[in-house]
Amino acid sequence: MSEEKIQDQAAESPETSDSSTPEEETAIMKDAANAKEDFKEPKKHQMPLAGQIFIALVCAIVVGMLIRNHADFAVTYIQPFGTIFLNLVKFIVVPIVLFSIMAGVVSMSDIKKVGFIGGTSLVYYMLTTAFATTIGLIFANIFKRFYPLLNTSNLSYDAPPKTSFMDTIVNIFPSNFITPMSEANMLQVIVMALLIGFAIILAGKDAQHAVGTINTWNAIFMKAMDMILRLSPIGVFCLLCPVVAQNGAMIIGSLAMVLLTAYICYVVHAVCVYSFTVSTLGKMSPIKFFKGMMPAMLFAFSSASSVGTLPLNMECAQKLGASKEVTSFVLPLGATINMDGTAIYQGVCAIFIASCYGIHLTLPQMVTIVLTATLASIGTAGVPGAGMVMLAMVLQSVGLPISGIALVAGVDRIFDMGRTTLNITGDASCAVIISHMQDKRNAKKAAKEAKVENAQA
Ligand code: ASP
Repeated sequence: MSEEKIQDQAAESPETSDSSTPEEETAIMKDAANAKEDFKEPKKHQMPLAGQIFIALVCAIVVGMLIRNHADFAVTYIQPFGTIFLNLVKFIVVPIVLFSIMAGVVSMSDIKKVGFIGGTSLVYYMLTTAFATTIGLIFANIFKRFYPLLNTSNLSYDAPPKTSFMDTIVNIFPSNFITPMSEANMLQVIVMALLIGFAIILAGKDAQHAVGTINTWNAIFMKAMDMILRLSPIGVFCLLCPVVAQNGAMIIGSLAMVLLTAYICYVVHAVCVYSFTVSTLGKMSPIKFFKGMMPAMLFAFSSASSVGTLPLNMECAQKLGASKEVTSFVLPLGATINMDGTAIYQGVCAIFIASCYGIHLTLPQMVTIVLTATLASIGTAGVPGAGMVMLAMVLQSVGLPISGIALVAGVDRIFDMGRTTLNITGDASCAVIISHMQDKRNAKKAAKEAKVENAQA
């Protein structure tokens, strides 16, 4: 990953908040300058991170196939290093989301602006997710006849305790300052970040120092994340290799059709929906968009974590022209609540499980799936495997047997790699679009002000 952008963020932060002290500004600038020295361009012999990840991915598949008969070895000795990498990612995620959203809010220094960006992204996220589930249901119904009739007896799956809709809403709001962070409850962390960010804006001069401090900590955690991300090729290899070694061609074969359906939907959603929204609302060529997003997409594919991909996603979106102000707000929000890939997966799996059990779903039941999957994807954490847990909620909503999850659990990682890739691409498309809208609003405002000035003169 080219760390330059992230360091640029650190260097720019004090400007956006003209309230940091001169000492703080100098320190941040110095840090950023040092960092730039280190990271200017990848040294000639050094391959960009995206390339390294790609090679790790290919190696993981090749080695995984070679040690198919020693899957235990891969699980016992290779996977733990992948777990270490994921632990580090999880460790850094809470401070990253907390500080980047706070920094995003205070840099706007205008609650109306936050409202516009937050409101527009929320509408975009919800609509695209509902669309994604619908695409999933349509394709799953088309491919239904090719699904194998699997043996559904003796299946067991420990479903998470059922929570009511109102409880879900109540649980978004933290009752304690520390628990959301210690439990990595991302929705609560977002509420905390927004609340504190708004309070800083409203406190005005009294909170001037806090702005500089937030920007400083944001830069520090971004740098820490960057250090962790340098390990991602190793992490990717160690995570993927055991998956390939364990899930030989056989299990993939019996579930090939449902996997294929999900992947077709991921591609259709990306190519149709994002290309359309990015070109019409964001005025950007879809080819440019997907090309620019490639490093983040590759990383998401191998790490299966939206939140872990956040820093790289921010970098890619900013390189595509999205403003720092928008990306630092819209992307952490999206990594937590926007999961189009997960919604597709849930729609496809619901139909698959129903057909394995010989259950026919009615149209109202499908509508229920669209609504529940859209809500479930909001509550899905951006970490590997979270979507499968939320699938239980979708199945419950239409009375499908939760034990059916065991049918797809074996290959969940393969679903997850694709759905995470789509999840983060959706977040970035939103950032590009809102950034463009914001630019237009600013230009309009400037033109209006110029008109008034001219009239007064
Ligand atoms: N792994 C996905 C993500 O991080 C969430 C899921 O399991 O669907 O976006």
